[in-house]
Amino acid sequence: MKVLMFHNVAKPPKSARLKSLYVKPDKFEKWMRILSKLNYKFVKEEDLAPKGRGVLLTFDDAYKDFLENAFPVIKELRAHAIVFVPAGLVGQFNRWDFKKVNAIKPIMSWDELSYLVKAGIEIGSHTLSHPFLTKLSIKDAKREIEDSKKLLEDKLGVKIKSFCYPYGDYNQEIAELVREAGYEYAYTTVKGKYKDSPNRWEIKRIYISGYWTTLRFLWECLK
Ligand SMILES: [Zn+2]
Repeated sequence: MKVLMFHNVAKPPKSARLKSLYVKPDKFEKWMRILSKLNYKFVKEEDLAPKGRGVLLTFDDAYKDFLENAFPVIKELRAHAIVFVPAGLVGQFNRWDFKKVNAIKPIMSWDELSYLVKAGIEIGSHTLSHPFLTKLSIKDAKREIEDSKKLLEDKLGVKIKSFCYPYGDYNQEIAELVREAGYEYAYTTVKGKYKDSPNRWEIKRIYISGYWTTLRFLWECLK
């Protein structure tokens, strides 16, 4: 099984940098339909297993284009997905990297996230402000990890079980804080199969690049 990591499902603006973060909507739809035709299971995280042909779809940063372009396909195919929300920036935009990527990307509102929860999409925490966690004091890192969970739970009325390290930045101390905060799963940006993850708080994923061809995408899911 593989955990697939997406960011934007949208056509990149001309001026945007790091365009590999954008998978175009028609490409996304095509890829998901092919996986479905090939009888891939779109698993939930509680169904993650060392063996079996399945993918878990994850979407970092909770951009509005998820709702517009990815969710309709996910809904139609009865797939599952986790959306990782920078909880302190709900209804705002990618404050942490808008200069670097030269694009302002709107983040979903609380109402939109509530709508997704009702539709069966899982919400996970991506901290409050999307910092490099290993560069913070332990006190500040704890706050980002714990308060984002509380805020999401208060606003959405569901238990938040999963966490995603911003920039994939973590170490053993940070992973321990995440576990102590009550998260059951945490996702990294380390490339690999689910079964090769050291434990549930260091889950490996596959970064899906918008530049890939369909063949490359399928190869990455299959190999
Ligand atoms: Zn992120």
